[in-house]
Amino acid sequence: MYDYDLLVIGSANADLVIGVERRPGAGETVLGSDLAVHPGGKGANQAVAAARLGARTALLARVGDDAYGRLLLDSQKAAGVDTVGVLVGGAPTGVALITVDPSGDNSIVVSPGANGRLTPDDVRASGSLFQASRVVSTQLEIPLETVVEAVRSLAPGSRFVLNPSPPRPLPTEVLAACDPLIVNEHEAKVILGDAPAGDDPADWARVLLARGPRSVVVTLGADGALVASAEGVARVPSVRVDAVDTTGAGDAFTAALAWRLGQGDALAQAAAYAARVGAAAVTKAGAQESYPTPDEVAAL
Ligand code: ATP
Repeated sequence: MYDYDLLVIGSANADLVIGVERRPGAGETVLGSDLAVHPGGKGANQAVAAARLGARTALLARVGDDAYGRLLLDSQKAAGVDTVGVLVGGAPTGVALITVDPSGDNSIVVSPGANGRLTPDDVRASGSLFQASRVVSTQLEIPLETVVEAVRSLAPGSRFVLNPSPPRPLPTEVLAACDPLIVNEHEAKVILGDAPAGDDPADWARVLLARGPRSVVVTLGADGALVASAEGVARVPSVRVDAVDTTGAGDAFTAALAWRLGQGDALAQAAAYAARVGAAAVTKAGAQESYPTPDEVAAL
């Protein structure tokens, strides 16, 4: 009945990375390594992660009519993502300028560029993609009003998954549609705002659930995750791996979870699979380059 297992709406960025001995202070110039350019952005990452796992995936995003836009379209197509929903033009492709020092600490400047021009009108014009998609997944690197319009465009019976990153307070309409809302510790705290929630992630999950989502997932890095729904809170075990680079692990987790939920898995079961995908993603450098195939997930 559905043409796509997953429709991802979100950002597509070129990540421009330079290794430095020391990140520069104000007014300072430092010399660094050769420039590395990687396809990134949370929307583009999620779509690649899902497609690599075998999900029939479409991406709704906006890139510039420039070389970085073409790089992003190529990486989506190479992973098997349907790019019919990727709009071109209106502003330069979004870029993240990243400097990384030898300890792994980084400084990042993001120019949202075309991501900031993905409008509610663009969502309305892509109504057929929504009708064709079992699950719709998004994040907050695009305008909030575009996310609101995505919620209003869901096909009857389809499922909405949100990772509110970068976090900001969310309208009730968006919260109520989430099944699940997927947050890490920082995102949970921003969305909870002044609500007293203590130090226990299970309490954050309960308080977030009371705000309206049908379910909540709290990701805990190497400690795995928690799932919360009307049935209660359950712990999802972590998968022990030697972490090389955690970049993009959250996007891989979200994509895998959204896909498995659409395939009929229960929340805890889908999250356990997603934790294996997240763990596999941290065993390799990079974001999209690190995303596993089903065989690599099974081999963990
Ligand atoms: P990101 O850095 O991409 O924003 P995030 O903070 O949203 O990530 P994390 O909690 O770091 O998300 O990772 C998502 C999931 O990936 C975790 O819930 C866990 O299942 C898995 N994961 C992440 N880091 C590790 C690790 N070091 N070892 C094992 N599994 C991990």
